[in-house]
Amino acid sequence: MLAIFSHTAQSFSEAVFAHCRRGKTHAERLYRHWMQGQPLSTLEVEPQARPLIEEIAGMTDFSLPTLSRLTEEGGTVKYLLKLHDGLECESVIIPMRGFATLCISSQIGCRMGCTFCETGRMGLIRSMTTEEIVAQVYYATRVLQKPVRNIVFMGMGEPLDNFEAVMRAVSVLTDPGGLNFGHARITISTSGRVDEIDQLTLSADPALNLAVSVNAPNDAIRRKIMPVNVKWNMAALKEAMVRYCAHPRRQILIEYVLLKDVNDSLESADELAAYLQGLNVKVNLIPYNPQSRSRFAPPDADVQAAFLARMRDHGYLTMLRKTKGRAIMAACGQLGSKSARLN
Ligand code: SF4
Repeated sequence: MLAIFSHTAQSFSEAVFAHCRRGKTHAERLYRHWMQGQPLSTLEVEPQARPLIEEIAGMTDFSLPTLSRLTEEGGTVKYLLKLHDGLECESVIIPMRGFATLCISSQIGCRMGCTFCETGRMGLIRSMTTEEIVAQVYYATRVLQKPVRNIVFMGMGEPLDNFEAVMRAVSVLTDPGGLNFGHARITISTSGRVDEIDQLTLSADPALNLAVSVNAPNDAIRRKIMPVNVKWNMAALKEAMVRYCAHPRRQILIEYVLLKDVNDSLESADELAAYLQGLNVKVNLIPYNPQSRSRFAPPDADVQAAFLARMRDHGYLTMLRKTKGRAIMAACGQLGSKSARLN
């Protein structure tokens, strides 16, 4: 069976051709029709083409994960899809003015172990397939019919720890013959996996957005909250970001979760500003969202405001994220439903 969500229109039609020795054009029509959210029964075909279309449909797996839970809070919709093995993945639709941003998962759990992150506490259960990643988008746009404009890989998991499946998903999502999202509408978030950032530098469309969770002003603090820093320290990370930004169209979104008495002082802001010097970045400050059993807390509002002002004084375009529902836009991950496990 051809799993439709793992294919672009072209690879789908080629796979059909390899099997039937014909049918490329019909396969592309069927692919587009399905990706537009139309049921197969409404595809208009000439009577003589009907048997071939049915043959193609018969060899294609159109199945969607089933919805296991949907909750809404202040316009923010969180939904859990049940995957073939019973695991659940979590996605969030965040309303913006007139459109929505969809936050999707790339792994069930995560092995990066960031100490402030709920997903990190789960450990990695498994990486998601391209079909499962794309299905989250299909579900939001075609089944729930939400006006999704931006897609961010900031749900469960470290996207660059599942590099092949995520990049294949980006190809499917951006395919003009199917879902047709522009690369500029997609953001990949990473905790700072230097090798894969270099792979992105070499191979990703320059319009694709990269977010890097820096979260600390120096190695001593970062090592304590992000184990990834042991393998790739901040100097190595900066070098990778310099290489990435060498392309004039590339800018990096720096994610910085503000943790009370950990990384929120004005000295930290000064150190962060010095660290980022020379990079084409925007900075996104995210007040920590308190979670169950957590030893961290968000800084007081005046401390947040002072940090923001200091970064702006240093000349950085800096935003302070307002929490919507949960701090779902925070860093990569920070989703980590207790239910996102084997039921
Ligand atoms: S912040 Fe991202 S990389 Fe770190 S543990 Fe959470 S999901 Fe994984």
